[in-house]
Amino acid sequence: MKCPFCRHPDSRVIDSREIEDGQAIRRRRSCPQCTRRFSTVEESVLSVVKRSGVTEPFSRSKVVLGVRRACQGRPVDEDALALLAQQVEETVRASGQAEVPSQEVGLAILGPLRVLDEVAYLRFASVYRSFDSAADFAAEIEAMRADADRAEAPPGEHGPPLPVG
Ligand SMILES: [Zn+2]
Repeated sequence: MKCPFCRHPDSRVIDSREIEDGQAIRRRRSCPQCTRRFSTVEESVLSVVKRSGVTEPFSRSKVVLGVRRACQGRPVDEDALALLAQQVEETVRASGQAEVPSQEVGLAILGPLRVLDEVAYLRFASVYRSFDSAADFAAEIEAMRADADRAEAPPGEHGPPLPVG
């Protein structure tokens, strides 16, 4: 790494420490020529492969942007969005791939978004899964209700009977 002060082409690492929960490493460096010190941050690159085949670095702010649109008019604050983006990044990184298809990022958004706000979830899911009719919404809402019933039913008991018709 070039010294930013005297442009000497080499530098010595004097300290390395993990930052941001181990997702980046900050190194303190010293220049052997001018003896000045500077820091570098090394971050693992997580790429998202879009449907078009174009690859771009994963960005939490892009996740927030997409989710914020779905949350318009909903009681979801910026802190919640930031937390959601962090959860999405953790999920995506946990896949262990260096290049993740954008669909997987979308999938990673759906889970925490549904917990955060059901209306925003439905809006986001409608775009992500390209709902094209009211029936698609109805089916998704039905699935959400079924999940809620399962969660409420005591263990060992069946949920309510399915409506006929
Ligand atoms: Zn220097």
